[in-house]
Amino acid sequence: MNMNEIVGSHDIVMITLDTLRYDAAVLEEENCPNLCGGGHWEKRHTPGSFTYAAHHAFFGGFLPTPATTDKSEHIRLFHSRNTGMRTHPHTWLFDTPDIVSGLQAEGYRTICIGGVIFFTKKVALAKVLPSYFQQSFWRMTFGVTNPRSTEHQVNHALRLLEQVERNERLFLFLNVSAIHGPNHYYVPGARRDSVETQRAALRYVDGELGRLFAAMRKRERPVLCLVFSDHGTAYGEDGYEGHRLAHEVVWNVPYREFIL
Ligand SMILES: [Zn+2]
Repeated sequence: MNMNEIVGSHDIVMITLDTLRYDAAVLEEENCPNLCGGGHWEKRHTPGSFTYAAHHAFFGGFLPTPATTDKSEHIRLFHSRNTGMRTHPHTWLFDTPDIVSGLQAEGYRTICIGGVIFFTKKVALAKVLPSYFQQSFWRMTFGVTNPRSTEHQVNHALRLLEQVERNERLFLFLNVSAIHGPNHYYVPGARRDSVETQRAALRYVDGELGRLFAAMRKRERPVLCLVFSDHGTAYGEDGYEGHRLAHEVVWNVPYREFIL
């Protein structure tokens, strides 16, 4: 992927599947035609163990790192210019503090559709990540307590797309909340979150993303789609529960990049 040929010529969609574990994602590949129809999840390591830390890194251009020991394969898509570090010719260099304003400087309209608590804009802290974008949106129906959150998020994105010229450069960011806890309600009768209920949540999310991908395909430019998790979560492994902790079920995340 040569990002210097992508930026300017493609729309870019970045989707964080909040809290999705790598193992859960791999087990559902065959049931996720929209996310995995063209390939497999790649195993990567997240730069942050919870939403706030991970997204600051992502917007700084630090996407999840390939979980391989050969560093020559680790080609960054984005990198700050003039750091003194050697960069790959396929890496897109930005002069701004973050990739969102960097893409804005290249003429992109930047839109954030929030999901989990750090995107709610309800308190000052929850305004930080959305403030990277020219336009940002959050509704109660986009949040973790709504079992149809992805449907509402996608519906909102489709309405926004109607207001964006087909030829305008677009960077659309979507933080999917449905896979984050609570997710037990995606398995009828389940009383607590588990790998199984997270897998069911992922199947639900994949089913909703199809409409977003179809709408993006109707735009003038081809679309680079970056989809990954910000961190996993523990369901009792070695006694751990949740995330914002260092355990392989938290730091291993699924990653995909493809053209729509
Ligand atoms: Zn998160």
